[in-house]
Amino acid sequence: IFTIIHPDDIPVLKTAINDHLTGVTAQYRCEFRIRAKSGAWVWYANYGKIMDRDGSNRGQRFIGVTFNIDDRKCKEDEMERINRKLAEQNLLLENMNAMLQSLATSDPLTGLANRRKSMEVGDTEVQRAIRLGHPLSLLIADIDLFKQVNDTWGHLSGDMIICAVADTCVQCVRSNVDIVGRIGGEEFAIILPQADHAIANGLAERLCEAVAAQRVMVSDAVILSCTISIGVATLTASCTSFKHLLINADKALYLAKNSGRNCVRGECA
Ligand code: GH3
Ligand code: MG
Ligand code: MG
Repeated sequence: IFTIIHPDDIPVLKTAINDHLTGVTAQYRCEFRIRAKSGAWVWYANYGKIMDRDGSNRGQRFIGVTFNIDDRKCKEDEMERINRKLAEQNLLLENMNAMLQSLATSDPLTGLANRRKSMEVGDTEVQRAIRLGHPLSLLIADIDLFKQVNDTWGHLSGDMIICAVADTCVQCVRSNVDIVGRIGGEEFAIILPQADHAIANGLAERLCEAVAAQRVMVSDAVILSCTISIGVATLTASCTSFKHLLINADKALYLAKNSGRNCVRGECA
């Protein structure tokens, strides 16, 4: 029989026979492919048992049955193929979901958290600060007279300035603690957990100086600089939500703009 059995199935068959002969298995069971006259491989099941193993006619009789299971095997193969395809598609879906998640939460120009994500993080951080009794501050930084940059040097140069300011913001804050987001065209929110008003003011001053000192090469012949104005707000007994914090930081930013720009103003009420 080994001459017509699929070579891959011979070791399995030999093991099954041997296991039954030596008493390892109470019943012999094996499934293998046999070459049909047409040349095709056809799946068969072969089950059997040595009778009277412990009787007087030890091992004299073997009763067994062989039947065609090709249909079942084909269905199993098809099932396996479908399952593999499903697994592939699931992986694809997971990757697309991760991509969608990233698109929904990050700003494509700077890679920072977008407005939506910034609001989400802001709400979470405010709740955490209140729960733990920690201070929390928010900076709103807005590039000064940015429309002029666009009008004079073009939108692409403007984009490069936005990216440079974004980088400087990230470099100036505490990594893994503070969160920088782009919440408008040339406007950034910087959430500062565990920072009281004095700490936040100090950081804002340093940020203003760092941005004013940066030089952005927008083309071979043009190097630009810019300044930002910053409004600072801190959680207080009368300001207990991120929305309220944003309103206060915006008011402070307005004061900074009215004070001649390139400066920091705070709103602590
Ligand atoms: P202020 O100092 O009062 O903030 O003046 P400003 O000119 O910065 O303020 P304004 O709000 O008048 O102008 C903001 C400009 O930002 C207008 C808009 O064209 C530009 N802007 C918004 N989003 C983008 C962007 O993604 N890329 C570029 N290059 N410009 C942008
Ligand atoms: Mg501006
Ligand atoms: Mg603005």
